[in-house]
Amino acid sequence: MRVLVVEDDDALADRIAEDLRLSGMVVDIARDGNQADFMGCTEAYDAAVLDLGLPGLDGVSVLRSWREHGRDMPVLILSARGRWSDKLAGFDAGADDYLTKPFLHEEVALRLRVLMRRARGHAHPLITVGPLSYDSNADRFMLEGRPLVLTAQEQLILAYLIQRHGCVVSRSEIAEHVYARDLDPDSNTLDVMIGRIRRRLGHPLIHTERGRGYRLADDSGGDG
Ligand code: CA
Repeated sequence: MRVLVVEDDDALADRIAEDLRLSGMVVDIARDGNQADFMGCTEAYDAAVLDLGLPGLDGVSVLRSWREHGRDMPVLILSARGRWSDKLAGFDAGADDYLTKPFLHEEVALRLRVLMRRARGHAHPLITVGPLSYDSNADRFMLEGRPLVLTAQEQLILAYLIQRHGCVVSRSEIAEHVYARDLDPDSNTLDVMIGRIRRRLGHPLIHTERGRGYRLADDSGGDG
């Protein structure tokens, strides 16, 4: 899952980004309102954390601009402004959640996970496809009831596929949402990683749709 963190306090931005990376997200940082507006309108994010007091464009204007450009990713406002009128302005501009500073760092990752899960139409954190299940709150996989150990990059890819299970996910979509920027989606790195994940799964759950991408599904049992 790829997340944009908008925060002009450098130390805080880095801390939030680090926490989110540790919990398995790919993170970009925007440090002022104009940069945030541009990045949110041009890149594909699964969610954003948005500060309100920003140099350049303020947070509410950034959010309004994203929504006007049809960007519908879940947005968590993270602000020192705790007045009701500030919260109302945030929600009116299209925010999905609002957290007041100071906050528990764990809470940001947890709330983002819930928002992204809901945005994908899953009401419950546990997704099960055949012998594989994924707890999206804890970012943990179980295979036949036992913990499935994956590398960080494999975990990102499989988490993305299972949240879109039953759908064909293109290579470029995986690259946009899962890969860090420095990885080339046209190289065979993705095929190599998919191959490794398949071996770890030991079940034919990841299907190659020729020319279109990959689809995670348990075709043996009926969970489409
Ligand atoms: Ca600020």
